[in-house]
Parts: sequence; C-alpha cells; structure tokens
Amino acid sequence: MGLANKMNYQNTSEFAKSLDEKDPLKHFRDMFYIPIMFGKECIYLTGNSLGLQTKRTQDYVVDELEDWASLGVEGHFHARNPWLPYHEIFPKQLSNIVGCKENEVVVMNSLTVNLHLLMVSFYRPTKQRYKIICEAKAFPSDQYAFETQAKYHGFDPKDAVIEVSPGEGEHTLRTEDIISTIKKHGDSVALVLFGGVNYYTGQLFDIKTITEAAHAVGAYAGFDLAHAVGNVELHMHDWNVDFACWCSYKYLNSGPGGVAGVYIHEKLASDTSIPRFAGWWGYTKETRFKMGKGFEAIPTAEGWQLSNAPVLSMAAHKASLEVFEEAGMDKLHAKRKLLSGYLHFVLNDINSRQQEKLIEIITPSKENERGCQVSMLMLKNGKEIFTELTTRGVIADWREPNVIRVAPVPLYNSFEDVWRFGHIIKTTLNKIQSSQS
Ligand SMILES: *Cc1c(COP(=O)(O)O)cnc(C)c1O
Repeated sequence: MGLANKMNYQNTSEFAKSLDEKDPLKHFRDMFYIPIMFGKECIYLTGNSLGLQTKRTQDYVVDELEDWASLGVEGHFHARNPWLPYHEIFPKQLSNIVGCKENEVVVMNSLTVNLHLLMVSFYRPTKQRYKIICEAKAFPSDQYAFETQAKYHGFDPKDAVIEVSPGEGEHTLRTEDIISTIKKHGDSVALVLFGGVNYYTGQLFDIKTITEAAHAVGAYAGFDLAHAVGNVELHMHDWNVDFACWCSYKYLNSGPGGVAGVYIHEKLASDTSIPRFAGWWGYTKETRFKMGKGFEAIPTAEGWQLSNAPVLSMAAHKASLEVFEEAGMDKLHAKRKLLSGYLHFVLNDINSRQQEKLIEIITPSKENERGCQVSMLMLKNGKEIFTELTTRGVIADWREPNVIRVAPVPLYNSFEDVWRFGHIIKTTLNKIQSSQS
C-alpha cells in the first residue's frame, strides 16, 4: 500500500490547497508555461499527450541557434555543448528515469522509427517461431508496425500478431491471461511486445512478469514506454527487459515531435553481431571518420544510431531532463501517487453522490497498476460534460466513443487542479440533472 491509500482525502478546495502547501515539489510548477485560456491559466490535464514547456527550453534552443550563427560548422567541436557528442549528455539522466545502465540507453530518431529499428534486430522470425504477442488496442502506430513487420517477413498478420484482450465485461488485461497466452503459443512466439502503460486505459503492465514469461518460451521481451517513461517507476535492466523505446514529448516534456529514446539490455547491446540497419553514427567512434568500408558497431545502445544528433530538438530534451533531475524521481513518484490517488477519490466521491453511476473509471484502481492517467468511461452525457470542461478552461482528452482521459502530472499539476476539475464535473452533472427534472 502506498501513502495515497492511507491518506484521508477530502473533496474540498481547502483540503486540496493544504496538500499543495505541503507539496515539496510545489515550486516546480513555476518552471513551466501553463497555457492561458479565457485570460487565465488553464487546468492542463494532458501531460500524457504533450507535456508542457519548461521556462528554460527557449534559452537552450536559442543557445544552439546562436552557436550555429557564430560558429557554423565549427560548432560541432566548439559550441558550448559541442554537437558532435551532443547525445552523450543524456544517458546519465535517462538511465535514472528508465532504470538501466548508461550504456543501455541512447537518444535518437522518433518513436515509431525506433520501434521498427528494434524489431529489425529483435523480430527475426523463422517458420517455427514467428509470432508477436501484444495487447489488444495497442496504440495504432504500434499496431501498424507489428502488422507491417509480419508482412515484411512474409507472414500473415492475422496469424502472426496475437492480441491479448480483456475478459468479458472488463476493460483491462489480467496478467495471468497475458502469461497463459504466451505459454499457449510457446515456441512459436518470437517477440512479446507490450506498452508499459496502455495509452487508452492507463493500465500499467507487470513488465517484470511479462518479461520472465517471454524468456521462458525463448522469446524476446520489448516494451513501448511512451506512456510509462517519466511517469511510473521503471527498472528495465533489473527486470531483464531486452529492449524498449519511448517518445519524449509526453511525460518527458521535450516538445512536439521531440527526439525519442531507446533502451537495449547490455547483454544484447554489447553484441555487435546482432543484425541491424546501420548508419555512420553507430560506428565505432575512434575510427568513424576514417570512413572505411565495413560497418563496425559501437558495443553499446549507441551502436543502433543512424544519424548525427538533431541538436535543436535535443536542446529542448536537455532542458526538460534537467528539471526531472532537479525534482528527483523519488519525489516525483511519491507526488504522482498522492495526486492520482486524490483524483480517484474525487471522482468516486462525485459518483457516490449521484443516484445512478455516471462515470466508470476504467483505469485500474490499484496503485501498482497505473500511473498518472485516469480514463473515465462516461456512461451518460459524456460529450456534454467534455464540452463544459473545455468552456471552463480544462484541457483534457476525448476518445471516441465516450472516454475522457486526464493525467495530473507531478511536475506541474496541483491538488487544486484536481479538485477544480472534479468541481466542474460535479456542477455540470447537477446542471444536466436539474434541466432534465
Ligand atoms: C504517442 C505514441 C506513439 C506515437 O509515435 P510517434 O512515432 O512519436 O509519432 C506511438 N506509440 C505509442 C504507444 C504512443 O503512446
């Protein structure tokens, strides 16, 4: 049981404010630009979709533009942060966030590109072993990657891509169903590839157990951490995960389309014989500029890099990861649990005061099965409530047919944000009901 489960929450503005007062991370909100709606700061609950900009981001990007203007190509060596090894800034900070060694992580490309590149190395199907096991309703881009990878290797996706679905009447997956599906397909499984946190339901999967089950049938275990990184506690190395990838613009606040990241376990990353699609930036550094024939991979995750560092995007990433480092992951996780616990409490409180249930929370209620995000299945008047939220300065996310996703994040959301969000829902429900009676 986490702290949040022991807390006696109250659904009042005073209580929310008292939690904000005690919050050791309360000053971090001032490090971000909060979008303005109707002349005042909005209640921003879509940090799971596009994280907010830190106030230092512009300076960091402008620094690189200035160095480019004044130095031209010499900036590769003489910029304040030399561009040639720019990506080497990141492993220290990211290894903390992802839970891995520094040689297991690299920042490059974008998420779907990296997913494909990793599958090039770790989905090499044979006639006997060719299946990919994944969650039903994986993010569409991931579904397209699985489908087209299977086809690329000459397999029928209907046969090769196995989706684990929720049980009858349920919204989230049971770990035992995931495990039994892996066991059932046994040595026909080439790869088990799950999200860390499902983007739709907000369910956090049991990464360690899924990895063990994949290894038990001789398959690789990979994870798409888009909704997990910068959100939940991760120990990719200790959990023995083979590989993972993520984007940086959601919880990692590194800007739209920002440069992405990859983790590869060192037992694999150090094996330069593993097939891959290569480029010059993955080439052994000592001899890279001899530009000789024959690719020689760097024996770390860097060996999967193709291109030189996209410095402008990386400058924004650097600004954001510094803020994470200053906050500290322990403090972030502690606040995340309290904050999302409070959101669950507020929504349950609203539900309990209605004659009929109007909101079904489809995100698991157990703290170790979720992160920041709460997905609300709106049983009645969903669109109306969502529209009202928007006109009252809340930025949330609507998913057809009737789900509202919200994610209070520990770096810049407050307990008051959560209370005000609940208050708006409650007022809207009361308004709808009085107009119906
Ligand atoms: C956000 C997200 C993506 C987006 O992919 P891009 O290549 O960054 O456009 C892919 N997969 C998952 C699971 C996501 O959550």
